[in-house]
Amino acid sequence: MARFKAPRGTRDVLPSEQPYWRYVKGRAEAQARLFGYQPVDTPLFEDAALFVRGVGLGTDIVEKEMYVLEDRGGDRLALRPEGTAPVCRAYLEHGMYNLPQPVRLYYVCPIFRYERPQAGRYRQHYQFGVECLGDEDALVDAEVIELAWSFVASLGLRGIVLCINSIGDRSCRPAYVEALKAHYLGRLKDVCPDCRMRFERSPLRVLDCKRTDFACQEMAAEAPNSLQFLCADCGHRWKALLGYLASLEIPYEVDTRLVRGLDYYTRTVFEIQPLVARAQGTVLAGGRYDGLIEELGGPPTPGIGFGSGIERLIENLKAQGVTPTDYKGVEAVVAWIGDAARQEAVKLSASLKRQGISTLLAPTSKSLKGQMRYASAQGARYVLILGEEELSQGTVVVREMAKGEQKPVERAALLGYLTSGTV
Ligand code: ATP
Ligand code: MG
Repeated sequence: MARFKAPRGTRDVLPSEQPYWRYVKGRAEAQARLFGYQPVDTPLFEDAALFVRGVGLGTDIVEKEMYVLEDRGGDRLALRPEGTAPVCRAYLEHGMYNLPQPVRLYYVCPIFRYERPQAGRYRQHYQFGVECLGDEDALVDAEVIELAWSFVASLGLRGIVLCINSIGDRSCRPAYVEALKAHYLGRLKDVCPDCRMRFERSPLRVLDCKRTDFACQEMAAEAPNSLQFLCADCGHRWKALLGYLASLEIPYEVDTRLVRGLDYYTRTVFEIQPLVARAQGTVLAGGRYDGLIEELGGPPTPGIGFGSGIERLIENLKAQGVTPTDYKGVEAVVAWIGDAARQEAVKLSASLKRQGISTLLAPTSKSLKGQMRYASAQGARYVLILGEEELSQGTVVVREMAKGEQKPVERAALLGYLTSGTV
């Protein structure tokens, strides 16, 4: 038996599952480009302090979930626990605020969080994320939501709902937070220990609690509504956003329990949830973070973005029986009988590869049958068979696996046959 296993909460993506990954990453990239977003890659690890500032004390990520390590030089580093802070760090470090604004960026990258592993919750997962930096107009909120919706729809995912809310800004949120605290104050003993901690350190996040073994859910359901506390400016922007979503014909649900906990999160928050799992299974979450870049030491710069969990998307696609459409197995496997034909098979497969046709040589086997079995396990479209007779006649027997039919084809006509199906 194997002595080692993948670390708890991590997974190997084996070849059989790769088509789903290529499909989802391909759609992510295609949609991001369609909307004019540019790719960006940041390091797998960063100064841990970036996340303490950029994600914040009082969040699950910083309090409980970061993988922190000290390297040999004594630097305190963290494996990337989320994608936004590193992109904002890069935006500042490379002076992207000097470019015409807004700057539109996207990434697909692994994220590390020390979580309790379960379905849809891993210690390493991948996110497709986008960030639009330098424009606070609600038009941009609508664009980012449109991109999110269009991405998930392009995967063919059904039974999903877009939830949106506004949590106000620095001027109107304090009054809302006070009202929320007043609602919880007398009943703190009934909510979970985490919520008691949140109440002290980042009160909005009590609304985000998922525990059902305390009174957290009913307390949240009866909590005051953030939309009723919006100042005039936030109220206008909220109405504008709803107007754009109507023009875009994007259906949404207003969910006043949707929050992000920290001061630099402002106004728009949104999630895409599968109806079967709702908030437990959120496949995409985003929001506006107008105070973040300033928090990182930069000039006041608005921003909005989202992150989407690729494993969760794939799990939903599988549950709905959606299979990737844009993946092909190997095109041809060359099988042969006899030593002379083996040399010819080596030449033939090399020449097909040079012509751009993905080709494998069947493994040496006692029987043609064994070679055919191998070809079918590779998902080959054609098996090309070379024997003494074919060598002497300058032909190759082409077997079309799906039809189970075969016929001899002149070597000179082979390429045309394989690419167009006709001689
Ligand atoms: P949750 O409330 O489920 O813990 P979160 O608020 O921590 O989610 P975000 O930080 O907003 O999640 O991450 C964006 C998306 O990344 C989530 O909506 C989800 O699809 C995915 N995601 C987050 N954590 C994990 C994880 N541990 N494993 C797999 N996917 C994850
Ligand atoms: Mg989490």
